[in-house]
Amino acid sequence: MFRHDTPAEASFRTEVRSWLEANLPGSLRDRTTRPPPVELMPWYQTLSRKGWIAPHWPRQHGGMGATLNEQIVMTEELARIGAPHLPVQGLNHIGPILMEFGSEAQQKKHLPPIIDGSVIWAQGYSEPGAGSDLASLATRATLNGDHFVVKGSKIWTTWGHHSDWMFALVRTDPDAQPRHAGISFILIDLHSPGIRIRPIVTIAGDDEFAEVFFDDVVVPAENLVGKLNDGWRIANALLGHERLGTSNPQFALQALERIKVMARATGIIADPAFQDRLAAASINVTALSAMFSHAVELTNNERSLGPESSVVKIFGSELLQSLNELLIEAAGGHAAMEEPVATNAGVVDVAVPFLFSRRVTIYGGSSEIQRNVLARRVLNLPA
Ligand SMILES: Cc1cc2nc3c(=O)[nH]c(=O)nc-3n(C[C@H](O)[C@H](O)[C@H](O)COP(=O)(O)OP(=O)(O)OC[C@H]3O[C@@H](n4cnc5c(N)ncnc54)[C@H](O)[C@@H]3O)c2cc1C
Repeated sequence: MFRHDTPAEASFRTEVRSWLEANLPGSLRDRTTRPPPVELMPWYQTLSRKGWIAPHWPRQHGGMGATLNEQIVMTEELARIGAPHLPVQGLNHIGPILMEFGSEAQQKKHLPPIIDGSVIWAQGYSEPGAGSDLASLATRATLNGDHFVVKGSKIWTTWGHHSDWMFALVRTDPDAQPRHAGISFILIDLHSPGIRIRPIVTIAGDDEFAEVFFDDVVVPAENLVGKLNDGWRIANALLGHERLGTSNPQFALQALERIKVMARATGIIADPAFQDRLAAASINVTALSAMFSHAVELTNNERSLGPESSVVKIFGSELLQSLNELLIEAAGGHAAMEEPVATNAGVVDVAVPFLFSRRVTIYGGSSEIQRNVLARRVLNLPA
């Protein structure tokens, strides 16, 4: 958007656009919440067979090894056609973490099924008493010879009830001080005996996340990633990936498109005051794309993101909420309808994306927590 394609990129864009037009089922376009696995995973697997499921992964691990600009082209084209949100815990979170911190055996076992979509991953960080204050987590993993015994529970686990595996933070040394020095990062097979999973329905009406209970679950010691009691370092590297992933401009681009369709349908597009707000929103989406590309470039250069990921997370998530507020304004009286609104240019969901966008300033670390990070690490303010 803020740059011009080279001839090679332009031809890649044409290829992506026409392939998506031919292959993305109509029923999966412009969905405002994530479709259930039975609908979504065949699409994931189609992208995988094409070799496009992991543009940012190196080829040696089954990725596309795409350049930064090719990744941006894909993001823009997926947004343009209204492609659905994929499950990202494998692709964006545990995959890159295993490439950096996992053993060769762990990489061999777990990376291929992420690429081919045969295994779905969940993230087990949050607990009822440990969200923003993650270091207070209490799920206990006791090392007993060649295995851990896990007891406790996790909450807000995205797609927990659809997942096969979970990467989890567990307390392996209850006496350690500071508290984060007693935490380890382990991989748990969610089909193990002693696990109970209960879905939670959100305000937007989707059962996006779940509670997961562990009752003396046996986990092989070889499922420890990195060293014992060194999970906090890995957890933080992963949070950088997560903050970046949640700020993908694909969602803002799709929201902007929805506003334009709705504003044309209701006629508010002709209102100069609305045009001003739409122009400001478009500029901010362009700014987000630029910030996101910069952050991706740092990651591609193998720099772990520091406070940059907090800046992009705050800007991207708060922008998405403001875009959905503008969508409400564009829809006028139709905004109160729970059902999608019919327009000449097709149906537009208004209420659901508005409700959906409430969550984005919470997950991956809330806006308040990101501001705390910036206050401490960039502005050097006292904790
Ligand atoms: C849609 C969604 C999906 C999620 N998926 C996952 C997942 O897959 N895996 C997982 O582990 N977790 C997941 N989470 C959980 C998420 O990471 C937590 O909700 C988040 O970290 C906040 O924790 P909490 O809900 O316990 O709120 P709390 O930590 O109790 O915070 C409540 C409020 O207080 C504010 N607050 C807390 N501490 C401070 C402070 N020190 N300074 C200023 N303000 C503060 C917070 O910003 C927030 O507004 C998900 C959440 C959502 C909404």
